[in-house]
Amino acid sequence: MPGLYIHIPFCRKKCGYCDFASVAGEGRVDAYLEALAKEAGAYTVPPDGFDTLYIGGGTPSLLSSTQLKNLLVLTSDLTGPISKLREATFEANPESLDTEKAGLLKSAGISRVSLGLQAAQNRLLRRLGRIAMAEDFERAYKTLRAAGFDNINADLMCGLPDQKVADFMESLSWLLAMRPEHISLYALEVHEGTPFHREGITEAPDASADMYEMAAKALERAGLKRYEISNFARENRRSLHNLNYWEQGSYLGLGASASSYLAGERRTNTADLETYISSALADGHPRAGCGETLTGRAKKAERIMLGLRKTEGIELEDDIIVEFSEEIGRLLSLGLIEKKGPVIKIKSDKLYLSNAVFREFV
Ligand code: SF4
Repeated sequence: MPGLYIHIPFCRKKCGYCDFASVAGEGRVDAYLEALAKEAGAYTVPPDGFDTLYIGGGTPSLLSSTQLKNLLVLTSDLTGPISKLREATFEANPESLDTEKAGLLKSAGISRVSLGLQAAQNRLLRRLGRIAMAEDFERAYKTLRAAGFDNINADLMCGLPDQKVADFMESLSWLLAMRPEHISLYALEVHEGTPFHREGITEAPDASADMYEMAAKALERAGLKRYEISNFARENRRSLHNLNYWEQGSYLGLGASASSYLAGERRTNTADLETYISSALADGHPRAGCGETLTGRAKKAERIMLGLRKTEGIELEDDIIVEFSEEIGRLLSLGLIEKKGPVIKIKSDKLYLSNAVFREFV
């Protein structure tokens, strides 16, 4: 069964490093929800329905309670009762999550919330251009717990400007004391067109790799096992929706910039907000260009790259091992991957070099 992703591209303001499809301000939310309903209505629900749901952004929690209710209704029109899905995640930022919205999400059947923290030091959060400070995160986290959520992810970042190792470890301990079920850890990437890029801020891959290693050990001690390059979870708390991506499963993406992968074809919606709204309202199909059907070697290569993101690696059929024997052989001799029978995986101490591994298969 496919997963369903819904993109909400609004944030109160843009963070300095943000390269995601999001715009500052809430002025077009109602028009966007109308367009989203039109796009959702243009799809035939798969015969067995959807397996998982992920409402991401942007900042979905920015929606008012009324808008949130509308979003949840248009979602359940597609999925049926949200509580029946195997997993239903909602992304939130602390500044826009309150008791009323947490209650709405819970009663609609949302089972998992992903909350942005990034760092526990307010000076670093200000440097990132974040609105919420550490105390706001703590308040939002407690609000979610009080509403009954027992599956919370927190996003954390490393390799930040002015971030010392001690800051990072302090963020980690501060967060772990709250006992989240899942942590996603991302190294800062500086993309062209962002304020950080204009300021000349550079990435810190070595510092990030060290912080990842320290985090992996500390998190494991705290009961959160690394299961993907950037993701750590307690038992039975892996992100099922994201695992489906890494297993090259099918999914439907709705909203500006969202991608779908259905029946072997990948399609992506336009990222431009106004183009999305007008074309979705016109005919329910706000696509950017034509779809792309991956076949043969390209499809297998993508499957390997996605599968190698998981720490358990990927089990390959004999013919694929033969077809990629040169690439696999090179990576083995460089000591970047290991192979046990049909399973190949990136060595645990080389996960920070995953991009170099993936380049072999591009
Ligand atoms: S909250 Fe996330 S999506 Fe919104 S501006 Fe910041 S980084 Fe971008």
